[in-house]
Amino acid sequence: MTPVATAPEGASGGALTGDAVRLPIAAGLHARPAAMLVALAKKYQSAIRLLRGADEVNAKSVVSIMSLGTQHGDLLRVQATGADAAEAIAAVSALLLQGCGEAHEAAPTSATLTTEPVPAVATAAHALSGVCAAPGLAVGRVVQFRQDVIVVAETGESAERERSKLDAALTLAQQQIAALKLGLADAAGAAILQAHQELLQDPDLLELAVAGVLQCQSAGHAWRVAFMQYAQRLEGLEGAHNALLRERGSDIRDVGRRVLALLAGVTPAQIDLPQGAILIAEELTPSDTASLDRSKLLGFCTTSGGATSHVAILARSFGIPALCGVDPAALALAQGTLVVLDGAQGLLHHRPSPADIDQAHQRMAQQAARREQDAALAQDAAVTTDGQRIEVVANVRNATEAREAVALGGEGVGLLRSEFLFDERDTAPSEDEQAAAYIAVAQALGPQRTLVIRTLDVGGDKPLPYLPLPKEDNPFLGLRGVRVSLDQPEMFRTQLRAILRASGQARLHIMFPMIATLEELRAAKALLAAEVAATGQRDVKVGIMIEVPSAALLAEQFAREADFFSIGTNDLTQYTLAMDRGHPKLAKQADGLHPAVLKMIALSCEGAARHGKWVGVCGSLASDAMAVPVLIGLGVSELSVSVPAIPAIKALLRRLSLAECQGLAQEVIQFGTTAQVRARLAAFAD
Ligand code: PEP
Ligand code: MG
Repeated sequence: MTPVATAPEGASGGALTGDAVRLPIAAGLHARPAAMLVALAKKYQSAIRLLRGADEVNAKSVVSIMSLGTQHGDLLRVQATGADAAEAIAAVSALLLQGCGEAHEAAPTSATLTTEPVPAVATAAHALSGVCAAPGLAVGRVVQFRQDVIVVAETGESAERERSKLDAALTLAQQQIAALKLGLADAAGAAILQAHQELLQDPDLLELAVAGVLQCQSAGHAWRVAFMQYAQRLEGLEGAHNALLRERGSDIRDVGRRVLALLAGVTPAQIDLPQGAILIAEELTPSDTASLDRSKLLGFCTTSGGATSHVAILARSFGIPALCGVDPAALALAQGTLVVLDGAQGLLHHRPSPADIDQAHQRMAQQAARREQDAALAQDAAVTTDGQRIEVVANVRNATEAREAVALGGEGVGLLRSEFLFDERDTAPSEDEQAAAYIAVAQALGPQRTLVIRTLDVGGDKPLPYLPLPKEDNPFLGLRGVRVSLDQPEMFRTQLRAILRASGQARLHIMFPMIATLEELRAAKALLAAEVAATGQRDVKVGIMIEVPSAALLAEQFAREADFFSIGTNDLTQYTLAMDRGHPKLAKQADGLHPAVLKMIALSCEGAARHGKWVGVCGSLASDAMAVPVLIGLGVSELSVSVPAIPAIKALLRRLSLAECQGLAQEVIQFGTTAQVRARLAAFAD
């Protein structure tokens, strides 16, 4: 049930307060989750406050929420006053409980082809070290960037006049950010700019600025005082756990400077890049990075920030090497200095010898040639040296990604995460809307290609704004995946009908997530059968995700009743090892190559084989080059990988012999530790 709204003792004005919610977000409520919470709170007419012990803040203010400095595990309550107070409390508490969309931020469980940040370890001679924000290698010339100081008068004209200047600048800043957002292709960058837009509407920040204006300050001065005060409040928060929040102080400075520049009538310093630039700055704001000419930029380094900073997220989406937290000596390098930036090693070589440069060029050439070869053959089938065909398909969220997958040689879609099609809505999509989205993905593939649509997979770490779920002590072990669908059969049936309407446009497969018991599979199939009977669409295969140990252990029984299995190694690892997939301290240990997880995969393949059913893997292990030989050696015949990884995984498969992979798989599942497995796989890859 929703959090109970009760009138606290002494509550004035009819305020209602919800049950305490323990905050599940590893880094506390920083800018993005705070922005999501504010967006939801603003939908309610009631005044809403967030309480932590004696502290309380306005739940419609991103800045105030961030300044609360919340930590993982904090007990928070939502209080509301107004006509829709009870609904507001229920919805906001549910969102808090679900982590405001944050749990997926955690580091990946194993090294995938799209390498994630690793800390720098060693410093070579003439090399400055930093934290890898994005991997890759580049040889280029230093371009130093510093932000200008913006000067504004302290006093202004009439309060009315200054207020209207402030309003006009805020509106213009909103428009600028909206335009920047349009130019950004990636979702991560857009989410950051979205948080900036929220900050510009922050009522507490505005109130402070307006108070300054009313005291005869100029709009510029009052605004600067207001945003600096807020940024400092965040940056002054104590404790290592607040490193992320302190970083978000830079977001406030970033939007703050944008408005300030508009008020001062100055154009902020443009980063004018020559060809082949490696940009060095103390800090690059998301606005700076979003407006960079990416055709001229080879990489960048900032002395501030860490692997979780926004600039790191953007660098990864640009696909160029970048370092954060680099040695400040980098700021003293002369413009035009020739450098080698090694993202993966976390090093900026600033006095490379001609031999170093040659070597870097050779490595880059090898990497590029390999990528080119892989891309040239991407449309060919992936067949092992001993003739075993393995299907390489993609994990996608929408029709655009499905088209990208096909262009890169994807043979279909092995996992359409249907929940992503509608995650930005506040009302449930109708059958027609859903059908249009599924048909678009199916048409991007065509009748010859496989499309596996996973039914709604929410709960645990995946909130859905239009579907507030009840508060639970252990959401990962509660209403999650197919259990939500079975709990809300009307919603489930609507989705099933919509999916069936895509049949005929692609080779349609329906897959149920988080199946733990045969009863769940049977209940889901019964609802599907009713819709199949009503619509007359019969050419659909029905499979399950293997994400829970019980499903792997009973694979044989499940294989009698399902057409296929797709192993979700992200969740299977979490549930086999009892390690939260989003836990920052367990990220390294929660490794899909743990022999216990591999044994689960082996059992799934054996069970399926007894009934002639096929097994795919759609968790991140499928995109991990080191894991691929074991997976196919265990009997997996379909790999559903991240879109950019398709050509490389196909190329890798063509170099493997199935017989050798089978031998390897039998060997590693006898091991007791992940370290042994990884060591053996590394030797195999050599
Ligand atoms: C998985 O658990 O491996 C999986 C593919 O599903 P998701 O990551 O969406 O939970
Ligand atoms: Mg999963």
